[in-house]
Amino acid sequence: MRLQQKIALITGGARGIGFAIAQRLAAEGAILVIADINEQGAREAAAALGPEKGLGVAVNVADGSSVDAMVKTIVDRYGRIDILVNNAGIGGNTPFLDITPEEWNRTISINLTGAFLVAQACARVMAKQGSGKIINIASLSGQRGGHGRGAYGAAKAGLELLTKVMAVELSEFGINVNNIAPGAIETEMAKFAHDRPTRAAYNYLIPMTRYGTPEEIADAAVFLSSEESKYIQGHTLNVDGGFRAAGLMFRGSKALGQADQL
Ligand code: NAP
Repeated sequence: MRLQQKIALITGGARGIGFAIAQRLAAEGAILVIADINEQGAREAAAALGPEKGLGVAVNVADGSSVDAMVKTIVDRYGRIDILVNNAGIGGNTPFLDITPEEWNRTISINLTGAFLVAQACARVMAKQGSGKIINIASLSGQRGGHGRGAYGAAKAGLELLTKVMAVELSEFGINVNNIAPGAIETEMAKFAHDRPTRAAYNYLIPMTRYGTPEEIADAAVFLSSEESKYIQGHTLNVDGGFRAAGLMFRGSKALGQADQL
């Protein structure tokens, strides 16, 4: 119970990685606010945590007035925000030559501007408290040039840099700010964005030869939410089965067999 009675906000928590993080933080004693554009989904996710364990609220992270209303609801009810997991996001898999300005703006507005709006609104509350933990969910796609990841990757790379600036400026208020960069994680978003050849390529190129699970991201989020990570600041923790670390590999017949399917 490392997070006993901590008030934790998770955006995009109705499903996928966000919901898995909510479950793990709740298991450590935190009280969860699950905020999602899918209000019904947020309420059901909060109810699934158990009685008095969570609150489901609606938010569109790309809309500043919606973000302000969400933060007011939390502060009115609980008086504080101890942990923010900035997780809401949309996928994207469009080749550079085909990205429309509309798709570009939508992706940046949710995945980068949305994360900024939520982080700023929460950090203002945390600064008054003199403490807080902010975890931004970035992506391996913000570190490597994946095909089709022009808008998505640019937004996530921007989020990594924003995290460093926030860490520098918010240290004096006792706020830790870090990233988790997931690799390929088995969620609805991955099902939408990864076709069969993409999945085969990931399974070949990831040293651990498999997709990660939302629960494995949640384990990292618990650590970065806890006192055990208090001297970790402005860091990006990759949870990617070794994908970032890997160079050209020569492996056994099983992996090469998978490569044959490409
Ligand atoms: P997911 O299953 O699609 O869940 C994302 C949640 O965010 C959904 O409930 C979605 O609602 C909500 N959402 C979308 N737009 C929103 C908005 N404007 N305001 C508030 N909520 C919004 O995605 P996931 O795979 O769990 O991904 C979670 C995070 O991890 C994202 O930031 C993603 O970029 C990142 N990530 C995922 C992977 C992966 O392989 N899955 C890898 C790297 C990084 P709706 O369903 O109603 O749209």
